[in-house]
Amino acid sequence: MTITGVFGGTFDPPHNGHVAVVEAVLAAGVVDRVVVPVAADPWQKTGLGEITPFSIRYEMTVAAFESVDRVTVSNIEQSLEGPSYTYDLLNALAADDIEHKPIIGADAASALATWHRMEDLAQGWEFIVINRPGHQITLPEQVKFQSIVMEPVDISSTDIRLATAGRQQVSDRVSSTVESLIVKHGLYT
Ligand code: ATP
Repeated sequence: MTITGVFGGTFDPPHNGHVAVVEAVLAAGVVDRVVVPVAADPWQKTGLGEITPFSIRYEMTVAAFESVDRVTVSNIEQSLEGPSYTYDLLNALAADDIEHKPIIGADAASALATWHRMEDLAQGWEFIVINRPGHQITLPEQVKFQSIVMEPVDISSTDIRLATAGRQQVSDRVSSTVESLIVKHGLYT
C-alpha cells in the first residue's frame, strides 16, 4: 500500500510556506509521495476578491514544486463539478492500492468543522496537520490526525498579493520561477 499525501490549496500564489509543508511531510516519512491538487472553485475564498484563473495558478504551482522530488501537481479539480470540496476530491482520487492522507495547515484544521461532509471525511481519512504561525492546532474530536512540526514559516498568499500590489519585492517568499510568472501575467497589481 502506497501512502500519498494530498495537499490541496488555492495557491494564489504558491509560496515557500507551501513548499516547506510538503518537504516537512516527506522528510517525516509519513507519506511516500504527495499530490498537490489546485482548487478550481475554492468555495471558502469566493467573495473575498477576485481569484486568479485556474490555468495561471496551476502553472505557478507546477513551477513552485518543480524541484521537489516525489511531488505531482494535479489539475484533477478542474474536471470535478461544482465547488472544490475535499470530500469529492478524495473520492475522485480513491484507488485500491493507495491510502490518501489530506495534509492541512493549522488554520485549515481549525476550519475543518465547517467543511462539506465533515463527518464522512472524519470517517474515511486520516489527516496530517502542520503548524502555522498564529494558529493553534484544534480539530473536531472525531477527526484522526498525525501532527507534523516544521520550522514555522510566516508567509501567506494574502501577504504576497498585498506586497505585489504595493510594489514590494516578494523574492524572499516565492521561488524565482513563480515570481517571474507573477510579473509575466501582471498579477495582483
Ligand atoms: P491565503 O492567504 O490566500 O488565504 P494561504 O497562504 O493560506 O492563502 P492556501 O493556498 O489557501 O494558502 O493554503 C493551502 C494549504 O496550505 C492550507 O492547508 C494552509 O493551511 C497551508 N499553508 C499555507 N501557508 C502555510 C504556512 N506558511 N505554514 C503552514 N501551512 C500553510
